[in-house]
Amino acid sequence: MDVKPRPHPHAIMISVPYQGHINPFVNLALKLASKGFSITFVHIEFVHHTLSKAHHNNKNEVDFFSQARESGLDIRYTTINDGFPVEFDRVIHFEEYWESILRDFPARVDEFIEKTIKSDPFSAHFIVADTSYSWPATIAKKYNLVNVSFWTQPALVFSLIYHLDLLRENGHCPCKDNIDEEINYLPGVESLSTKDIMPYLKESESKTIVYTALSTSFQLVKNADFILHNTIQELEPTTLSSLNKKQPNYAIGPINFSKIYLTTTITKSLWSESNCENWLDSKPPNSVLYVSFGSLVQTNKQVIEEIARGLLLSEVNFVWVVRAGIVGSYDSDVLPDGFIDEVKEKGLIVPWCDQITVLSSPAVGGFLTHCGWNSVLESMWCGVPMICYPVTFDQPTNRKLVVDDWKIGVNLCDDGLTLLVDRFKVAEKVRSFMCGSDENMGLKEGIKKVREVLHGAMEIGGSSEGNFDKFVDDLRGKIYAKSMDT
Ligand code: UDP
Repeated sequence: MDVKPRPHPHAIMISVPYQGHINPFVNLALKLASKGFSITFVHIEFVHHTLSKAHHNNKNEVDFFSQARESGLDIRYTTINDGFPVEFDRVIHFEEYWESILRDFPARVDEFIEKTIKSDPFSAHFIVADTSYSWPATIAKKYNLVNVSFWTQPALVFSLIYHLDLLRENGHCPCKDNIDEEINYLPGVESLSTKDIMPYLKESESKTIVYTALSTSFQLVKNADFILHNTIQELEPTTLSSLNKKQPNYAIGPINFSKIYLTTTITKSLWSESNCENWLDSKPPNSVLYVSFGSLVQTNKQVIEEIARGLLLSEVNFVWVVRAGIVGSYDSDVLPDGFIDEVKEKGLIVPWCDQITVLSSPAVGGFLTHCGWNSVLESMWCGVPMICYPVTFDQPTNRKLVVDDWKIGVNLCDDGLTLLVDRFKVAEKVRSFMCGSDENMGLKEGIKKVREVLHGAMEIGGSSEGNFDKFVDDLRGKIYAKSMDT
């Protein structure tokens, strides 16, 4: 009997153009390649330009994966146009941009995928796409491709959007603003308050593009063959096992700390990174608060001023990332007058840094964070407890996990969700958090345990490594079965 040869599996991966998606997505590409898959990794053109500008003097022909190839991984690199000029600001014009990503981008992806498949007819192509995209299900069906969906946030957030029908039935989608009702009917989720669900599920934001895009994508993700989560089985066991009853789900996080990532450097930072190491080395252990609100959050000058004054009043050492665009414009003058002079040796203010390197410094004893999921994972990995100041997207829900469930962080504001901050309260919170209060000792115990869970998960025999290997086996089987169909 003739046995059909196994076709070589080849992933097509198109990134979402924001830092919090690029980082885990690049690391997933490396990890898949390390298991013998070929990869075509695709950045949106403007991401390519931004990376070239930040790291290679605008040289346009850089191949960001050449080092990976030199180390033996088969990752080919290319770009796709999203229909906007390079200089169009995709953060400030978020609504307009995502309307077009929903409406116009799928046709571009379709054309790209058809070309890629035709150029390499002996490979078995499959799609690995961010769950936030709406195009994968339709395109996978059109070309008979295996469809792998990658979710870069916690399983709890996934479950909330996955079960929008249940939220609707219970009058919680859209959810009235400012109500505090219990949600105890989601499979695998014991209980959470309506206060803690993502703002885009609430009435005031229910007409925004984030809601439209995610509700569309999550309708379609039900057709995915596999769903990967950048979380850890031990941290979200019931949520994950309940999702698993519907579709194959695998917790493979924290992907930013895969062994392969730790040995292969790929340029992925959208801004050039200031070196903080010398400054940190001059500070005593656990004496520095690291402050950063990630790559997307926008706030206003008043919040910046209260945080600035609060940090000074606390007398705690700090590294503060004040990103260009943090107040919604590229006004470089966002800090209060005279602040830099007053800070002196107490603080280091940088536009961007290598966050993992900073969090790994023994000098860093706390992280004042907006609770972006990558930041939470990186803080847990480095064993750094958090002060939480969530602003938007998944951040309020992530706060609930960090503060209420895992007890590895505290709220900056009393209820954890207020956006207005007061310098005296900031100072008091920062001081007591950094200066060994009883509360802080409890957090230290908690974060030590969580750190061990994360490191254990990524060891050989650990849950995330095991889940990844299982996913790879299941994926190979599915690709082979599909190739037998055609
Ligand atoms: N980051 C960084 N340098 C900084 C601030 C952030 O490298 O100065 C990285 C951080 O390590 C994380 C990502 O940017 O991987 C931010 O992702 P996250 O999910 O925390 O927040 P988002 O930017 O999506 O709101």
